[in-house]
Amino acid sequence: MKRLLTMAVATLAATGAFAQAYPAKPVTFIVPFAAGGPTDKVARDLAEAMRKPLGQQIIVENVAGAGGTLGHTRVAKASNDGYTVLLAHIAMATAPALYRNLQYKTLEDFEFAGLINEVPMTLIGRPTLPANNYAELTKWIDANKGKINLAHAGLGSASHLCGLLFQQRIGVEMTTVPYKGTAPAMTDLIGGQVDLMCDQTTNTTSQIEGGKVKAYAVTTPKRLNTPATKNLPTLDESGLKGFNVTIWHGLYAPKGTPKPVIDKLNAALKEALKDQDFVKRQEALGALVVNDNRTNVADHKKFVESEINKWGPIIKAAGQYAD
Ligand code: ASP
Repeated sequence: MKRLLTMAVATLAATGAFAQAYPAKPVTFIVPFAAGGPTDKVARDLAEAMRKPLGQQIIVENVAGAGGTLGHTRVAKASNDGYTVLLAHIAMATAPALYRNLQYKTLEDFEFAGLINEVPMTLIGRPTLPANNYAELTKWIDANKGKINLAHAGLGSASHLCGLLFQQRIGVEMTTVPYKGTAPAMTDLIGGQVDLMCDQTTNTTSQIEGGKVKAYAVTTPKRLNTPATKNLPTLDESGLKGFNVTIWHGLYAPKGTPKPVIDKLNAALKEALKDQDFVKRQEALGALVVNDNRTNVADHKKFVESEINKWGPIIKAAGQYAD
């Protein structure tokens, strides 16, 4: 008994000393989508904003594939020392309803380190698409049923979710083309290899402004006020009543990462969310930095749980599954 107690005290002391020294080397953010895409952009901007408050470099590594679930799995199974951190989006909440053989449990296999931002999406098309506004798009879709391609970043990704709901609401099935992220999907959309995509404003803003893609609508209940999106209608006002897809990003560490380490990550995140350079950059791309309780670890977890409960039945009703 005494020996067990001594061992427990020694372990606690070692954990305390480890947590105090953390971070003693660069921290890696795992991004579960391709480089250059919207999740990657948030990660690289946040890595820069958290570098000072954390007192260490943050390296971004892309582990893309299977709608983000490969990256999620990598972190769920990584060492819980605080040096491998997941920056993930809404797929944390949508994947459980889509994948029958998910290799992790969202609510059990991670420590939650705080929500980062909320990002609206836009419905966009290849530049050669003859439709110039949403009304023309619906006519084009009607005339081209059975021939339309829709790009997305894998089952469970935000673009997949948004595209799935869009097809369901207009009652037209499209051929979906999965990519490892919406960066490579955007290249093909601009090149005309695919017709349509729904993607975060953090990826579409510069392409809309540069006239590289056609933009048809935003997915939020209210119109958006950035130069790229201010003239776009909402899908809700365009006849798809109640259409609302807003996605979010958060930080996660493997289960069992010591609480003082999570506290340090969370404190650095909160500092970054007040960093005006980061806030302004996010706003310019149509994203909103979170400034409510969801930046706290307990509320972040409750929020993700509520999102799992919200999207699960919608995805199941759409009859989509992956093994
Ligand atoms: N925008 C992608 C998605 O549809 C993810 C990404 O490439 O960052 O989920």
